[in-house]
Amino acid sequence: MDRARFDRMLARRASRRRFLAASAGAAGLVAVSRPGRPTRSAWLQATPAGSPTANPTFAANPFALGVASGDPLPDGVVLWTRLAPDPLDGGGLDGQGAIAVRWEIAADSTFSRIVQTGDATASPDLGHSVHVDAQGLEPGREYFYRFMAGSEVSPVGRTKTAPAPEASINRLRFAFASCQEWQTGFYTAYRHMAQEDLDLVLFLGDYIYEDAHGESDSPAIVRRDTSPLTETLEDYRRRHALYKLDPDLQAAHAAFPWIATWDDHEVDNDYANDRDQDDTPTDQFLARRANAYQAFYEHLPLRPESMPQGPDMRLYRRFTYGDLAEFQVLDTRQYRTDHPCGEGELARCAAAVDPATTMTGPEQEQWLLSGLDASTARWNVIGQQVLMAELLHAEEPEPIYWQDAWDGYPAARNRILSHLSSRGISNPMVLTGDWHSTFVNDLHADFEDESSPVIGTEFVVTAITTGGDNNGYEAYYRPMIGLNPHIKLFDGDRRGYIRCDVTPSTWRADIKMVATVRDRDAGIGTFASFVVEDGQPGAQPA
Ligand code: FE
Ligand code: CA
Repeated sequence: MDRARFDRMLARRASRRRFLAASAGAAGLVAVSRPGRPTRSAWLQATPAGSPTANPTFAANPFALGVASGDPLPDGVVLWTRLAPDPLDGGGLDGQGAIAVRWEIAADSTFSRIVQTGDATASPDLGHSVHVDAQGLEPGREYFYRFMAGSEVSPVGRTKTAPAPEASINRLRFAFASCQEWQTGFYTAYRHMAQEDLDLVLFLGDYIYEDAHGESDSPAIVRRDTSPLTETLEDYRRRHALYKLDPDLQAAHAAFPWIATWDDHEVDNDYANDRDQDDTPTDQFLARRANAYQAFYEHLPLRPESMPQGPDMRLYRRFTYGDLAEFQVLDTRQYRTDHPCGEGELARCAAAVDPATTMTGPEQEQWLLSGLDASTARWNVIGQQVLMAELLHAEEPEPIYWQDAWDGYPAARNRILSHLSSRGISNPMVLTGDWHSTFVNDLHADFEDESSPVIGTEFVVTAITTGGDNNGYEAYYRPMIGLNPHIKLFDGDRRGYIRCDVTPSTWRADIKMVATVRDRDAGIGTFASFVVEDGQPGAQPA
């Protein structure tokens, strides 16, 4: 984590009126000061925690949304749950105040060796969600955790801390995924992922979809939700709860720590910064964005650093796995220039190459570039949302590109790619979601110059579900692939995830595809496997 910036952020927060001031102290945050980590207690203790109910009773199981862990550090991990006995009807705790939640961390799954316990508070201001920022754990260790409220006990989750920063690591196994539209498929891919042996899961956006499908007659719909387009905080909470009720998604959360970022559909399709597709007045859209961001925070295992402040939420952050891998996790939605040449499939315009046009915002871009410079890791992962490699759609009568991806922001892309090249960043690996298709791409130092060297590798993961089986992307995009010789593999038909097995010498990626998203019990297979050798950018078939 970038602690200097974190300190400045805390100082800023302490000095301005806080959107969530009333809830901050009661948000289930355990403000523990300890050597080597800046204390968070200064602003958390500035607000009264209230006195949470210690002996609540519930009309139904309050842990129906499961448990999760995330954002692993060498000495800690975030533990999450949300009390919601009636998840689809406001949570079922209307009118109830803060509720005390006990948590336990153990070295074994039967909790015979408990290593830490504590009390958190589930506050109504944050939907009775609980985020425990557990600290003082051992690096590179497996732990088990659970929560208790009243006489109720949660399911048990398993998690794992990151290795010590200076540790020499021989192996890292993780999976990455994106795009889990509930209505167009079962989470069969997660059912299988939960059985893997992984250190973590990286989620790259579209955790929920905001739109209404209640009336849709699309044959892709396999389960129907009749709720309207999400706009209010209650709408977004209900949508997250609907998704979280799925047992296979819960299983994948309970099995591994997740590092999650968002894309557009957590708020609204293809939004850019403070603009939505319909050019809704900015104040109105930012109020909606605040609702969406808060619900996202409430339902993901995120640190207090990511607590939203009105329509702003810091989600870009960094994770180090010893000397083997460093993850730079980006947010390419919140700070980007509104589509400089318009939305959809269009030719480039002058604004696309204006130096002021940005995908990350200048602050995040500087954070990324300086973080890459400071990294000592063998593999430098950039986890982000939208296709980074060029995808030329058509050459005649003029070159056409998809404007919501990095192709709409070519100058911003070139600043990053040329930095990776000129600084000799070790093994750049860009991991991408959004496209509901699989790509394996060579990243060139400059896509405007076909002879420029390959300096990195991009894996684009297909959707967990979105669009269902054979969603039409194969037929649409296949004819374009030949125009883009840097694309080593494309598949538009199948849904699944990518599992990575990383050692100092080799990065292996197994592309896992389910037989169908229409059957919860469907099988899974390895569609293709690629390897990247240390020091040799570009993936090769395994
Ligand atoms: Fe998506
Ligand atoms: Ca998307």
